[in-house]
Amino acid sequence: MSPSRRSVALLGATGSIGVQTLDVLRRERERFELVSIAGGEQLSELAAIAKEFGVKSIAVKSERHRADLVELVGPGVEVVVGDEGLHDLAQRSDVVVNAVMGFAGLPVTLGALSAGKRLALANKESLIAAAPLVAKVRNTIGATLLPIDSEHCAIHQCLASSPGAVGYPDVKRIVLTASGGPFRGWSEEQLKGATKQDALHHPTWSMGAKITIDSSTLMNKGLEVLEASALFGIDVDRIDVVVHPQSIIHSMVEYVDGSVLAQLSRPDMRLPIAYCLGQPERLAYAYGELDFSKAISLSFEPPDGTAFPALGLAYEAARVAGAAPAWLSAANEVAVAAFLADEINWCDIVAIVASTMDHYVADPLESLASLYESDDAARRWARASLER
Ligand code: NDP
Ligand code: MG
Repeated sequence: MSPSRRSVALLGATGSIGVQTLDVLRRERERFELVSIAGGEQLSELAAIAKEFGVKSIAVKSERHRADLVELVGPGVEVVVGDEGLHDLAQRSDVVVNAVMGFAGLPVTLGALSAGKRLALANKESLIAAAPLVAKVRNTIGATLLPIDSEHCAIHQCLASSPGAVGYPDVKRIVLTASGGPFRGWSEEQLKGATKQDALHHPTWSMGAKITIDSSTLMNKGLEVLEASALFGIDVDRIDVVVHPQSIIHSMVEYVDGSVLAQLSRPDMRLPIAYCLGQPERLAYAYGELDFSKAISLSFEPPDGTAFPALGLAYEAARVAGAAPAWLSAANEVAVAAFLADEINWCDIVAIVASTMDHYVADPLESLASLYESDDAARRWARASLER
């Protein structure tokens, strides 16, 4: 590897963010070398990526997955297993892209930051659940946390006009934009008939199944409020959500002097991925370029907090703090998985999260062990609520 090439670990390589990251890396072979990858069930895809990029190490979920993958890649590639494997690979590269889905991405976030690496974070669930623990490892020398989530990447770019200011005193508020999802404008009555097919049909973004369902309930935006607060150290009372159906403005920062800064592009996740890989430089390939020679309409409307109660639950979890965000996210993972498995209706998803939160017992979340206990407790309550 030439000294100027940065080594990259892409953990969650076979998913929506993973595939789009590979697309960026294909164009940037002179700057980046993909050295390690991880995935869940799609082992032949993992093997194909390893072959194409000459990957040296792969993390898989279990010994069974390891045995099957070794058959495909042969003995020349290192295959590591489980949470330890993810943690280990996250500690070895210059840049770590966390594109794993859900709480399973936690070892990647903690591994990369505690080893002083650059973490390009798509996996919002790990940051939301473990915010106090992540805050500690972020202080490791060299550790940098850059958000791939498009809204947070937009805010990161807008905040560049307040360099180094702790707590951003000149920021009046952050405004997260939301497409509104496939059910924007639906009444509570109509939402009772929402199907899986409807919910999986996102109007502006093509994403993995879990986040697509989260977008349909607006839980994704609720999780993003928590994510923004943890990332930028800004209280949720200074974070607002506005529905912007075109998904062109990816979020905004309003300053105390009335200025509002925004970042715009057509919806294309490769742009924030490339931004996180390239920082402090910009990679010279334009993703999501806008054509201002044609008319572009931008509209804004308030979210419907009554039809979409997930947003309110997320603000509540943020105010309770401690392990409450971890409970919210864990319960939501259980409910979304049940919905995708056709076990519950769409309206049950957020109802299960709400009923799980009723059982939350205050926990300041001081250790990793207590986080795993909280995650486990929330999942148990969510499953119990499912069975009712
Ligand atoms: P996908 O479901 O498309 O992909 C998830 C990836 O995680 C797959 O590669 C999957 O492997 C892998 N995976 C799942 N469990 C494990 C595990 N235990 N160990 C290792 N790998 C595992 O999700 P997305 O790409 O849509 O989302 C990934 C993350 O990025 C989520 O946290 C999401 O919220 C966030 N995000 C996604 C956006 C998007 O546009 N897609 C936008 C903003 C944020 P396999 O497929 O082989 O089973
Ligand atoms: Mg987002």
